[in-house]
Amino acid sequence: MKKKNILVIVTDQLTWRALPAYGNTYAKTPNIDRIADGGARFDSCYTPCPLCQPARTAFWSGIYPHETGVLSNGRAFPVSDLPESFPTLGSVFSAAGYETVHFGKRHDAGGLRGFTCAPEERIEVPAVSDAWPVNMDTFFDESTARQSVNYLETHGDAPFLMVADFVNPHNICGWVGAFKDEHTDIDPGVPLPELPENFEFDDIENRPVAVQYICCSHNRQAQAAAWKPETYRHYLAAYYHYLERADAHIGQVLDALAKRPDAEDTLLVFFADHGDSMAARGRTTKQVDFYEEVARVPFVFKGPGVEPRAEAIGGAPVSLLDLFPTLCGWAGLPVPEGLRGLDLSAALAGGSLPARPYVASEWHTEWGFTISPGRMIRDGRYKYTKYIEDGGEELYDLETDPYEKRNAAHDPAYCEALERMRGLYRQFLEETGDPFEGMEWKADRRWRSHPLGYHRHEGPSAPMVLGDAFPFPGQKKK
Ligand code: ZN
Repeated sequence: MKKKNILVIVTDQLTWRALPAYGNTYAKTPNIDRIADGGARFDSCYTPCPLCQPARTAFWSGIYPHETGVLSNGRAFPVSDLPESFPTLGSVFSAAGYETVHFGKRHDAGGLRGFTCAPEERIEVPAVSDAWPVNMDTFFDESTARQSVNYLETHGDAPFLMVADFVNPHNICGWVGAFKDEHTDIDPGVPLPELPENFEFDDIENRPVAVQYICCSHNRQAQAAAWKPETYRHYLAAYYHYLERADAHIGQVLDALAKRPDAEDTLLVFFADHGDSMAARGRTTKQVDFYEEVARVPFVFKGPGVEPRAEAIGGAPVSLLDLFPTLCGWAGLPVPEGLRGLDLSAALAGGSLPARPYVASEWHTEWGFTISPGRMIRDGRYKYTKYIEDGGEELYDLETDPYEKRNAAHDPAYCEALERMRGLYRQFLEETGDPFEGMEWKADRRWRSHPLGYHRHEGPSAPMVLGDAFPFPGQKKK
């Protein structure tokens, strides 16, 4: 029997909570809705790391960041490529006779081995409003859409595994830089979204020190220190705009697929590498923390072998590390040994989720200027986190506190749940050979000094002070 195709569509920095498919009533994403309608979506999917490069290397190879060795985005904490000895999604599917092609954002540190990757190109397009400036993130997507459409229009009938890897809504990071400090509140001409239920952050004293000082380790949080609540509503309007740009590009790819004779024989997969804080706790973008907005992502399938479901598949969390084994299971290929995810293909076909005690996520550092390793363990109800720097712990009962407003780790009423989650955390360290508890952290006192509150941050953050000594590739050393 002829192999069926797989089309994987990736977005960058898209939290599940932003999508109509997961209950959002503001966003307009008709094309992502086309994937979700008549498909199956997982309710609680977590990224292995809420940062681009470590997440991407991990989900393309099916193992955790501490196993890939890719723990940062680079600069003062450079990383080596994924060792050749690890199988990757691309290497397994190309060996099985699929044409494996990738268009768009890579940032994979070797995780895309086995794919033929098109060159990343930028095609400049205009901003539609001064309120929503565009940068290379959007320019790359323009090229990714054109390359993807061209492939679908010209490719013959050999089975393919294709990835269309979009950067938006990641353009929101550049938006913060463009409107840092005093925001000018340019009217975008759309109703401003409401602030989220967890915008106020009155529990900051009760959080791990690395979370308390995200403003000192993350330039995007430092840049927002002077923002007013209204500014965050502009931030959200911009976020939805960049999401709509991604959605329009996805629509172009879906239209090109629909014209192919084998469209019905193509499995669609949609997800994001990690989320965005979306103003929760007064936070912008993502760094250090594992809150739902940044760690939980959409994960949607549609096509042959997928039983359409109106309700999201819930009851247990899943992980982006399940991508690799699930596609193997779906295609009838053996799942390589040592992968940390599970094959969800039976659940996609209408069965129930495989039993698992937990899924995990990891944090190390973005650029190496502060290093604050953390771990997150999620079971069916609770989320537990642990940070090395101060041994800080968090516990959230996501049934009673879905917006993570109260850290219950120090609440005697949650003693039993805390002990159980600590047990799962130790199980994770043991099962995956995680050296977490012996890892070093690095945070100069000056990045841990001001009165608590992200809005009390003054001046630059660690990467803004130290970054010139470790320039981006292509940037001149000052
Ligand atoms: Zn600060």
